[in-house]
Formats: sequence, C-alpha cells, structure tokens
Amino acid sequence: MVPAPLPKRFNPQALADRHQVLAGELSTDSMARLREAVVSIGSTVSIDLQLARVRSGCQIDGEIACTLGLCCVRCLGEVRIRVSPSVRLVVGPRLESPIEAPEGYDLYEYEGSSLELAQLIEDELLLALPLVPRHVDISLCDPGMVAWLGLKERASGPARNPFAILKRP
Ligand SMILES: [Zn+2]
Repeated sequence: MVPAPLPKRFNPQALADRHQVLAGELSTDSMARLREAVVSIGSTVSIDLQLARVRSGCQIDGEIACTLGLCCVRCLGEVRIRVSPSVRLVVGPRLESPIEAPEGYDLYEYEGSSLELAQLIEDELLLALPLVPRHVDISLCDPGMVAWLGLKERASGPARNPFAILKRP
C-alpha cells in the first residue's frame, strides 16, 4: 500500500482509527530550532511511524532518520552524523488531568485538536543530538587543527616543566 502524503498537521486519534501510517520524507525547511543547533542539515527527514489508539491518548512507534552536520569537539570541523532515534511516544491534547505514558514511552502533549508533524519530529531530533559529536577516527579530523593541538600538548607536557631549569647545574 502506498502511504498517504505526509500531512502538515494531524489528529493522532483520527489517524490511528484509520490505521494510517506516517511514512515518507518530511521537509526540514520549517525546523528553525534544529537548524540553529547544527552546522548543516539534510533537506528531509525519513520518517516511518505507526499510530495506535490507547486508553490515555495515542501511541506512536517507529523510526526517524536524518543526516546532520555537527561541530566535531576534537577538531572543530564539521562531522556528518546520521541521527536515527526510535520514537516511543504517547501523545494527547493538553488537559487539566494529564494523561499517563506507559513505561518506556515519553509523553507529548499538544494544544488544540491536532499536532504539527514537523514540530514533533524536530523535538525528537533535538533530543537525539549526540552530546559529544566527533569524527569516528582522528584521521578524519582537520589535519591542520590536529597538528596545532598536538603542538600545544607537547608544549605543555613534562618536557617544558618550568621547574626543570632548577635541575640544571
Ligand atoms: Zn574532527
């Protein structure tokens, strides 16, 4: 079955009742917060989400994936990382008595009767950003920066111990 085109906004319960999946390529154009947090971003996020109605709201399970350019902590150059978190959410409208998420699921509440898909996906990607992004191997790092950092390490190493001069005759 060919999945329906991705909606901009959706009512999770209504989609779940129709057994509709959210699958396809979602544009990252409107994801301003994510754009600010990264060096570069792919034009789309692959999403594949199943929805199921549960007593307290709607459960969303699946995978999303996007290639992001982040700043390598070792060489400060750009490192491209595939971020592909699993999505395990219970979503529901914000109510006075908050809904409960089962163990292993996060709660995601929204105002009104529908939810903006790009905002939900952006939030999930922001949570999945690696805390310490870096090239998998130092050979992939910016060689100029690695050489400069190497010099700096040697300069502050034991060979330049300021007390070494006291040992001289
Ligand atoms: Zn690097």
